[in-house]
Amino acid sequence: MKNRKLLMIPGPIEFTPDVLRAMGMPTTSHVAANFIEVFGQALEDLRKVFLAPSGQPFVVPGSGTLAMDMAAANLIERGDQALVVNSGYFSDRFAKILERYGAVVTHVHGRTVGDAPPLSEVEAALQAIRPKVMTITHVDTSTAVATNVRELSALGRKHEALVIVDGVCATAGEEMRQDEWGIDLALTASQKAIGVPPGLAIVVAGLRAMEAFRKRTTPVGSFYADWTEWLPIMQSYEGRKPSYFATPAVNLVWALNVSLKGILSEGMDARFARHRRMSGAFKAGIGALGLKQLPVRTDLLATTLSAVYYPQGVDKGMLKYIDEAGVIVAGGLHPAVRDQYFRVGHMGAVTGADILATIGAIESGLKRSGYKFEVGTGLAAAQAALEGLSQM
Ligand code: PMP
Repeated sequence: MKNRKLLMIPGPIEFTPDVLRAMGMPTTSHVAANFIEVFGQALEDLRKVFLAPSGQPFVVPGSGTLAMDMAAANLIERGDQALVVNSGYFSDRFAKILERYGAVVTHVHGRTVGDAPPLSEVEAALQAIRPKVMTITHVDTSTAVATNVRELSALGRKHEALVIVDGVCATAGEEMRQDEWGIDLALTASQKAIGVPPGLAIVVAGLRAMEAFRKRTTPVGSFYADWTEWLPIMQSYEGRKPSYFATPAVNLVWALNVSLKGILSEGMDARFARHRRMSGAFKAGIGALGLKQLPVRTDLLATTLSAVYYPQGVDKGMLKYIDEAGVIVAGGLHPAVRDQYFRVGHMGAVTGADILATIGAIESGLKRSGYKFEVGTGLAAAQAALEGLSQM
């Protein structure tokens, strides 16, 4: 018996056996020739995964919050204006981080939970406050709302703001083309669609972001996050030379190199398409079961995760039943509706079989919670979507 459950939360996700093998191998020196080569390759490959040929990657031990901290620490100076395109919990977090470094933050909110701010309001705010930076949460993990990063970035560029995208729950799953879309800094963490256990903060800074950093007149307010320290380290590894500022997360970098190779061998376009397909199949399954999602319009639906309201008469007690059926999903996170919904991650190496197992476990949870429906309806709809058949 396998004696393990399927992990379908929005990060950490299920990791592939080759990535996990890299985690378990004997740790090398951080200045060993083979590690330098692997770190150098990983930095080069990150540019391809972010579709940012002109970007400067930073890979630092830490979580996604450190990647956000690094963006703010290096780009903000006291008194700078910042605009937060606020689509939920993690947008609020970005605002707090920006404020910590002295930014004056303005928010543009969606009208309700499950919405994203309208482009026209974002543009009005850009015109009114002329911010130095604008932050966008690509996928808000609390609501499964995906923002229109392409259009928002174009607006940010038009009004000369540095565009920062929090892609922690998106990058390498949700379509994102950093250079083409004019994103000045994109960031993520290892444990989601990048497919590596938690512990790496990943940032790719474009030319304009690096230039803004170089033009600072005050020192960076964080010692650990300071690009003054990290830039020469990243340049050394990429130049295949040893270097040290703070010990790299050696096994995680080996694992990152394996995962990035896998991502690139699938190909970015194919990978974005698979995420759309998996998400479409999952959403078809829950839709057929009569369940509603948090995002208020279909153009806001993320492809990396889904946020689903419990139906009438069902509550979070259902999560235990889903777990007992062999699948782990996540509870609600957004404070306004926390106990009214659950979240399912479907990113990274996720397969059609994982989607069907998850819909099956949700059906089991619904049935045991007393919800009335025809068992198998969700599975049939998900299966049909996976096979590309339209539902009757
Ligand atoms: N931003 C988003 C969109 C996230 O989903 C998360 C983590 N769930 C974070 C930032 C913070 O990342 P971490 O928990 O790795 O610090």
